[in-house]
Amino acid sequence: MQKLKYKINTPSVSALEKKYVNDALNKGWLSSGGEHTKIFEEKVSKFVDRKFCIAVQSGTAGIHAALKAAGVKTGDKVITPNYTCSSSISCISQLNAIPVIVEIEDETLGLDYDLFVKAVTIHKPKVAQIVHVYGHPCRDTLKIINFCKKNNIVVIEDASEALGAKIMNKKCGSLGDISVISTRSEKMIGCGEGGLILTNNKILYEKATIYCNRHAPFRKKSDPYWKKYEVTGEGYNYLMPHLSGAFARGQIERFQKDLLPKKKMVGNLYSKHFKETPNYKLTQKRLKKTSPVFWLNSLYFKSLSVNNVKKLGLFLQSKGIEVRPGFWPLSLMKCFNPKYVGIKKISEDIKDKIIILPSSIDLKNKDIIFFKKQIDFFIKNK
Ligand SMILES: *Cc1c(COP(=O)(O)O)cnc(C)c1O
Repeated sequence: MQKLKYKINTPSVSALEKKYVNDALNKGWLSSGGEHTKIFEEKVSKFVDRKFCIAVQSGTAGIHAALKAAGVKTGDKVITPNYTCSSSISCISQLNAIPVIVEIEDETLGLDYDLFVKAVTIHKPKVAQIVHVYGHPCRDTLKIINFCKKNNIVVIEDASEALGAKIMNKKCGSLGDISVISTRSEKMIGCGEGGLILTNNKILYEKATIYCNRHAPFRKKSDPYWKKYEVTGEGYNYLMPHLSGAFARGQIERFQKDLLPKKKMVGNLYSKHFKETPNYKLTQKRLKKTSPVFWLNSLYFKSLSVNNVKKLGLFLQSKGIEVRPGFWPLSLMKCFNPKYVGIKKISEDIKDKIIILPSSIDLKNKDIIFFKKQIDFFIKNK
């Protein structure tokens, strides 16, 4: 196969990341708790309007620790949207909790409010996860959060794909009782593998920190050295190492003026060139009062058979264009034995009918035109 010239997401590495990583190397501090990681946490907190931030080793680790901090135990029910990363359901299952999968709406591919309310009535969950898919704020976020407040449900907001996005001028990542962001290389900011836990709630912050730090309690400066290895329960080793934190500091410092505007520009090019036709449309709608960040751009092929969508994907790859499929819906993951609330399996339709296209920040107008030409050519000649 031809080398893929156009990548889904190319990491952007500048002199700044190199400077901080070199500094961490020169100082010889490689593990968690390094000064660059602390500055990274402070800068993210400030950007997302959050009091507390914990840098961790992955978004998955962040979701796991957030569920623990929210008090999820054996037999508790946790809602997750059907269309998301498998980590959402895997972490619920690892805590012996029961996943309740709720179907999405087809505008932003987020949790559907009416189905959510129905799921709460039937299942009485302790926690609900909300996901902003591909950088588009979930349409019903604020309604769902209000409903959860009234019904004592802890909200974990998975903003893994949506750093910088806003809904009604509120930042994604600031909306849940706890929010999680992934910083693996291909996300809005990246440092190889990494993640963030964000909250304004001191108790949740302390609990999450303790779980991420082998369940070592918070130490006072006055504690004697021999207390160092005392722990008070089962914990994980999830804190972000310093080389990643140093790299990530460079990324957050470049985010607002460099990475984010370029990302939005690519999203705008897709909106400009891919107007709806009888054959396809951009999968997600740009809604009023939301500001998406277009983490990934995708097309929904209205008129193509499932088989032809696959063939088109292979055709695009043969032209050097990297493509991705949609998420594998959680409802198809029978290994987790989930409950399901939905009417139409929108997620399964999306999986079969979309193709995710290159969304790297270095893409130019002519590149998007090239993709469109290839797609139109395939459809005409299929
Ligand atoms: C990427 C992603 C995760 C997992 O993050 P990792 O850093 O890859 O572990 C979780 N949820 C969503 C929505 C994601 O996109």
